[in-house]
Amino acid sequence: MKNKAPLIGYSLIFLGAAFIIADADAMFNMYYIHYVAIVVGVVVLLIYYLTTRSEKNLLCRIGFHKFEHIGWDDEVSFRLIYRCQRCGYVKRVIRSSGGGGM
Ligand SMILES: [Zn+2]
Repeated sequence: MKNKAPLIGYSLIFLGAAFIIADADAMFNMYYIHYVAIVVGVVVLLIYYLTTRSEKNLLCRIGFHKFEHIGWDDEVSFRLIYRCQRCGYVKRVIRSSGGGGM
């Protein structure tokens, strides 16, 4: 069940968006059901991330890390190293030549 939570959440969000695009008000008498589907989907995803991830900071658990640029990778050129100020999570980003990236 837990592993299906992201699938359910994204499905609800997708369905809600699809209803809005299709203007489902004409088909359903219940207004706002598509918005409810999106909200429920987001809540399902948030609960899933909050309960399955181990980061101490709540924002980090749902993917909102506060990255700071701490250096360049020694092994691969043009690879930037970022570290989250809150939880210490490190990510490496290959910067494409020509700029425009983070
Ligand atoms: Zn973090």
